[in-house]
Amino acid sequence: MELNKSNYFSLEANRHYMSVSQFKGFLPSYGGCEAQAMAKISGEYVQPSITAFMEGHYVHAWNEGTLPEFKADNPELYSSRGPTSGQLKSNFQHCNKMIEVLEGDPLVMKALSGQKEVIMTVEMFGIPWKVMLDSYQPEAKIFADLKALKEMDGKFWNREAQAYENFLDHYGYIIQMAVYAEVERRVSGRKEEDWLLPHMVVVTKQDPPDHEIIYFDFDDIAAHLRIVGNHIERVKAVKSGTVEPNRCEKCDYCRQTKKITRIKHHKELALY
Ligand SMILES: [Zn+2]
Repeated sequence: MELNKSNYFSLEANRHYMSVSQFKGFLPSYGGCEAQAMAKISGEYVQPSITAFMEGHYVHAWNEGTLPEFKADNPELYSSRGPTSGQLKSNFQHCNKMIEVLEGDPLVMKALSGQKEVIMTVEMFGIPWKVMLDSYQPEAKIFADLKALKEMDGKFWNREAQAYENFLDHYGYIIQMAVYAEVERRVSGRKEEDWLLPHMVVVTKQDPPDHEIIYFDFDDIAAHLRIVGNHIERVKAVKSGTVEPNRCEKCDYCRQTKKITRIKHHKELALY
C-alpha cells in the first residue's frame, strides 16, 4: 500500500502498517489497551475527535504551511453564534499565540526548517511501519517533531513501574523518536546506529505559552528500540488475531462495552 497525506491516517493504512501511536495503543504501560487498539483497527471504535486533537492539527498545519487551507476545510474552528460569530474560536486564537511564540524564536524556526511532513515506510521487527516526520533535515543530520501540549511540568504515576515519570516517558515520546530515527536510517540505507539526532519542539497551551527544544541521544534511541523489541511479538500476535486482546476495563472503549463477570472484593480496588 502506497501512503500519501490523504490516506496516511486511514483505517486501511492502520491495518497494513504499524505506527508508533498504534504500537503505544497496545501497551498498558503507555496508557494503551489491546481491546481498544483492536477495536480501532477494525473500525468498531472511533475515538471522538477532541478539541485538543484539533489544536494539535492547527499548529501542525502552520508548520506545514497549509494553515489557510486547514482553516477553510474546518468551519468548526469558527464560532457560529453570538457576538463572536464568524471569528476564530478562542482556543484557536490561542493557537495563533502559540504559533507566534514559535515564529518569534529563531532557534525554533531553524529546528523546524527543512522538508515538512515527510512520510516513510519500512519493514522493521518483521512488520511494515509508517512514520511522518514533521521536519526533516538529513543534511544537518537532524529531524524534529512538533508537539503542542498542555504543559511540560506534569508528573505522572506509572502503575507498572511504580514511579513518577515526566511527560516524555508518560506519552512514549522517546519511543516515538527512537522509532522515527530507526525508520529513517533504514530508509536512507545508512549503517547500523548511524542515526539522525531526534529533536522535539514543544509549545505549551499555557498563557503565555512556554516552549522548548529537546534532543535525544543515541543511547536513548538504542534503549527505546529495545523496549519496542520487548513488546513487539505480543503486539504482532494480537494485531494479527493469533491471540485474543486483553481488556483493561478502564479505558473509554472498555467502559462502553463492559459486562461484569466477577464480583470483586473491596480490597482489589487498589489506589495505585
Ligand atoms: Zn480498555
